[in-house]
Amino acid sequence: MDDSRTGRRLRTLTVVAVAGGTLALLPLTGALATGDGDGGGHGGRGGDGGHHPHQQPRSVIFVNGDGMGAAHREAARLDQEGFDGQLAMDGLPIAGLQTTDARDPEDTVTDSAASASAWATGVKTYNGAISVDLDGNPLPTIGQQAEEAGLAGGIVTTAQVTDASPAAFFANSAQRAAQDDIARQYLEVSRPEVILGGGEDWWLPAGDEGTYPPRTGDEEDPEVSRSTQGDLVAQAQGLGYEYVSTAEEFAAADSDLLLGLFANEEMFQQRPEGEGDEFDPVVSLADMTTRALDVLSQDEDGFFLLVEEEAVDEMSHNNNAARMLESMRSLDAAVEVARAYVAEHPDTLLIVTGDHECGGLSIEDVDGEDESGPGGTLPQEVAVEGETESGEDGPFVVAGTDGAYDFALDWTTTGHTGVPTVVTAEGPGSEELTGYYPNTHLYDVMTSVLFD
Ligand SMILES: [Zn+2]
Repeated sequence: MDDSRTGRRLRTLTVVAVAGGTLALLPLTGALATGDGDGGGHGGRGGDGGHHPHQQPRSVIFVNGDGMGAAHREAARLDQEGFDGQLAMDGLPIAGLQTTDARDPEDTVTDSAASASAWATGVKTYNGAISVDLDGNPLPTIGQQAEEAGLAGGIVTTAQVTDASPAAFFANSAQRAAQDDIARQYLEVSRPEVILGGGEDWWLPAGDEGTYPPRTGDEEDPEVSRSTQGDLVAQAQGLGYEYVSTAEEFAAADSDLLLGLFANEEMFQQRPEGEGDEFDPVVSLADMTTRALDVLSQDEDGFFLLVEEEAVDEMSHNNNAARMLESMRSLDAAVEVARAYVAEHPDTLLIVTGDHECGGLSIEDVDGEDESGPGGTLPQEVAVEGETESGEDGPFVVAGTDGAYDFALDWTTTGHTGVPTVVTAEGPGSEELTGYYPNTHLYDVMTSVLFD
């Protein structure tokens, strides 16, 4: 199957070279070198038979359900739509499967950093890498390439805006944990027009509480301001960003440069059931997506927008199916917003997928026995205490059946797994997303849509 993949990629590159000459390759190969921002890459879209390059701007809305595998989607469909229903994300006309393995020195299964780097750069790398290669060298990212080609860029997430997935699209770092440096890069290098999500703690220096007071109860993961790069909120405001941090301020915002931080860290509390777990974001993912599209669509050159629901992954790490299903509802509401936009703006590619599966989730009948308990053939010394728990959640009622049908959700791990994830899509280039391909293929398709 690799042969057809390679062939497709070669054809794409050939088309680029014929259609736009050397200018067309600039956004793909020279992005990091051209530091003067706007304008230089416009020629990349100019080769379509003499049209003015601005007549047909194209955009990409990339939606990541972090940790979302096929079972998460199907569980949400049964829970929210029922046997005859369909999630908004599953109603997209194109579907495919992507493999997600990293190129890590130790691990086969990817983390969010390596998988997002594959999407953002087309290069496989190690776990923890933010769009750097195996030697730590920075790679051009699609978010930076979009900005340098004169398009707008945006981040919408319920994670920290500087967390691994959004970071890989707009920054480079050898360490995913360097979130304050990633925030600095947003302001000094890539400068996305819209940044909405959590992670206030990484933008403010120690001692500056900001809008959200410290949460110090969890000693392993205290939520306290910790920027080592100074007051990055003030720096953003100095660059012209409107800064908002409450639902009221968000509703009143009217700037075309918008920074919104609505939590210390994630916009939810990930915990096992009944241990302080909470999914009630200050601003919904759907509303953040609406606002981002309002701003970005004003750029006549098009845009690249990343939308992410992080809680699918975090709740799956906690084997918390009830909260996972809530986060799936949040994600699908955002997809509805995106689909409504695409219906009005057909030059927009919409992709909905997950960076990897989390939890080893499966859907089972409710039968009172959990066969995935103790036992199995794994040598005992491989088992790590606290990481081999495998609860079974439910029962959950199938929507529309008045309780006549239910199902259980069974987890096999509190970590990520290597099963392929579903990709659904519509819009220009989406026909390239049928089939079975590595996650790096999405970079090829998205850059082809934006820059060819
Ligand atoms: Zn995860």
